[in-house]
Amino acid sequence: MTGALLHERFPEVADALPFVRLGTAPTPVRRCDLGTTAELWCKDESGYGDGGWGGNKVRKLEWLLPEARRRGARTILTVGGTGTNWGLATALYGRAHGIETALALVDQPVDDHVRAQLRRLENSGATLYFTHSKLRTILAAPWLYLRRISAGKRPYLLPAGGSSPVGALGYVEAACELATQVAAGELPEPRHIVTAVGSGGTAAGLALGLRLAGLRTRVVGVVVNDALPLDAQHIVRLAGRTERLLRARGARFAPTGLRPEDVTMTTDWLGPGYGHTTPAAREAEQRAAQAGLHLETVYTAKALAALLSLDQAGVFGAGPVLFLNTYGPRP
Ligand SMILES: *Cc1c(COP(=O)(O)O)cnc(C)c1O
Repeated sequence: MTGALLHERFPEVADALPFVRLGTAPTPVRRCDLGTTAELWCKDESGYGDGGWGGNKVRKLEWLLPEARRRGARTILTVGGTGTNWGLATALYGRAHGIETALALVDQPVDDHVRAQLRRLENSGATLYFTHSKLRTILAAPWLYLRRISAGKRPYLLPAGGSSPVGALGYVEAACELATQVAAGELPEPRHIVTAVGSGGTAAGLALGLRLAGLRTRVVGVVVNDALPLDAQHIVRLAGRTERLLRARGARFAPTGLRPEDVTMTTDWLGPGYGHTTPAAREAEQRAAQAGLHLETVYTAKALAALLSLDQAGVFGAGPVLFLNTYGPRP
């Protein structure tokens, strides 16, 4: 698949919301045996992305990189933790498409995984600014912006995780893809989809996309970041901004009427904060590894820990429940 399903659904936005395919779609869906009561499925985004890093951020860049071009920007200026998957994906895929990346990096707990990611960032061609804290990043932002302008390049400013309305289109698209897989009988319609929430674009895009695609699947977001407001109200607000973006760029559809009550966000598996691992996450990571699923403890293992625990509490009943594996490391 090379074109976007979203363009098939709304041909009227194809020019105003350009898309570039950066991975191989559709991503696989398969049964996953982790001993849950509910019938468990996994949609595996780990293989998504043809260029040096994969996972959910690639889906956002499929819309953000063409949008940067559309705005005449040659640089993306954005922010992340020192182990940022978002920053690395932006640097690698941006470079392949003629767009430079400048990253403001905020400290996060350092382990081997973060150290390795920082080395990848240093080799990615991105310009790195170590701003350390959220406050110092906010204070430095105008200076960084002006610096990029004086270098002759108007930067495209993007929030952490690429979770702008344009970025969220990546998971509107993924939801359309899932609906196609359900319609083809590859999996039953999930009652719930569980995903990690770091900046909200994935959960918001899914919530909107599932509605547009006519699925009744409920998004359960497992918040792993304490530096951003990521409750149901904020997620649905981002979904609403994404819905308005689609309409502003020409799409015609009835309002989805998405409300905060339509999604579930939980902070119960966050532990001490972003990047701090928890015993439940470590245990879930191990259990997943035994089933051949390679997770990490910042995002995906916390999401799976929540899924396993909610399953035990009977929240998903007999299912089916779908786990979204958003982590896409490359050897
Ligand atoms: C960024 C990230 C997420 C969270 O996605 P958001 O759209 O930022 O909420 C989940 N898993 C992994 C591996 C990520 O890198």
